[in-house]
Amino acid sequence: MKHLMTVLRLLFLSLFIFLMIKGKPMLWFGVYAFSLLMALVFGRVYCGAICPMNTLMIPIDWFSKKLNIQKRKIPSWLQSGKFAIFALFGSIITLFLAQRVLQQRLPLLPAWIALAVIITLFFPPVVFHNLICPFGVLQKQFGKRPRYSTRIIKEKCIGCKLCEEVCPSNAIVVQEENKKAIVDTALCLQCANCQQVCPKDAIHYMK
Ligand code: SF4
Ligand code: SF4
Repeated sequence: MKHLMTVLRLLFLSLFIFLMIKGKPMLWFGVYAFSLLMALVFGRVYCGAICPMNTLMIPIDWFSKKLNIQKRKIPSWLQSGKFAIFALFGSIITLFLAQRVLQQRLPLLPAWIALAVIITLFFPPVVFHNLICPFGVLQKQFGKRPRYSTRIIKEKCIGCKLCEEVCPSNAIVVQEENKKAIVDTALCLQCANCQQVCPKDAIHYMK
């Protein structure tokens, strides 16, 4: 599963780079729009398997942890979560104005990728995924109640919290009261990290 995800991510990253080189960013926006419909059924698979920002954030996160330069404390102005909504509308308005008024196509996607990489150098991935990413705002809404998602088989869970430790978006949490993990589907990137570490095979992508 781990290798399949890595191959998928690299394939989509290659497609993204190809489209950017060919000057066809709108085709990538088409992929994104389609992924929102997919999120209604399959959850946020775009975030976990397709998004080029996430694909690049994975090695950057590893590198940053090795260098021990990531800060744990989230800046207070980000904590409300409103910045991501501002980023979404700000990006749409900026793109629209640049196109209409200046007749310029801004490199919005590469700019967000650069920002994602820089932020992940200094903060854990959860900061970008949950509090900054404008693309995640819509994915959260469309992927709230998908038909298929990462789910827990409660009887198997022993509450070891290994899944919590590898989740890039704080979507999986072991409840204090019953020591069982639960997944917040809106936050879940469907990345399968938790499935790979669960010692009891308690986590599955299912109905
Ligand atoms: S890793 Fe598996 S067993 Fe451990 S808390 Fe998570 S779901 Fe439960
Ligand atoms: S809950 Fe599991 S699949 Fe969902 S984002 Fe966290 S680690 Fe990935």
